Amino acid sequence: MLPISIDDYVSSDHFVRFITANGLSSVFILTRGSTISLNFFLFFSNILTHFAFMIKNLKVYFMLNIAIFGPPGSGKGTQSKMLLEKYRLDHISTGDILRDHIARKTALGTQAKALIDKGILVPDELIAQLLEEQLTEKVDSNGFLFDGFPRTVVQAHILEDLLSKLNTSLTCMISLEVDKEELTRRLLERSHIEGRSDDTLEVILERFKEYTHKTVPVIDFYKNRDTFFPVNGIGEPEKIFETLEGLIDNVVRDKK
Ligand code: ADP
Repeated sequence: MLPISIDDYVSSDHFVRFITANGLSSVFILTRGSTISLNFFLFFSNILTHFAFMIKNLKVYFMLNIAIFGPPGSGKGTQSKMLLEKYRLDHISTGDILRDHIARKTALGTQAKALIDKGILVPDELIAQLLEEQLTEKVDSNGFLFDGFPRTVVQAHILEDLLSKLNTSLTCMISLEVDKEELTRRLLERSHIEGRSDDTLEVILERFKEYTHKTVPVIDFYKNRDTFFPVNGIGEPEKIFETLEGLIDNVVRDKK
């Protein structure tokens, strides 16, 4: 039995990439234009299907998946911008996705806004749904940068499952460490510049509580793995970025 039909396959990206990579466009034209026996047709399509899976696995080998972790105000957004520019990853920021839903006034956005404005985390089921949509949309990604996710232990499991469905895994989890006084100072300063509805002192304190109770346990989930990297998040953003670059490049070198 064929894993996928030849018609699906010849119109797929994998086929086009395979043909381009191997310079076999002549074989493709010949095969489509002539009458060939069914056996040969099946044999040929099976070989192509195997190549498709080989190519897919090769691509997965080079996927760089980073999660940037830390309390509100730790600089995840700032570091994410620089990481995206350097490593050309797909940005998955659950905060940005939720704010986009709020701006578009979707049902999900309305549900999320009520919680975000109080500083409370959005339920894991909602986040799981958003994540699955985003990841399956980006099938040809070089890798993902998860910003503000996972934020609960359940979300850490969700992330593992989703990545394993894509035959890949988290390359590194970077935890930005900043003390509470500095975080409060930064968030209040940001409130003057960006005017985010959840950057008032009352809401900030609630977000810290949520972070302590629901997000800190995520550290235990990753702590004993060689993919977990705590980094000092106080100092010049460019200097912190140099540290991140150094550790990511090391991990990538070790994996190759
Ligand atoms: P910050 O990290 O500064 O709090 P974010 O933009 O990441 O900012 O998140 C803003 C708010 O959106 C959070 O306080 C929370 O209510 C909601 N949110 C974002 N990501 C998640 C998530 N992964 N799980 C649950 N809620 C989330």
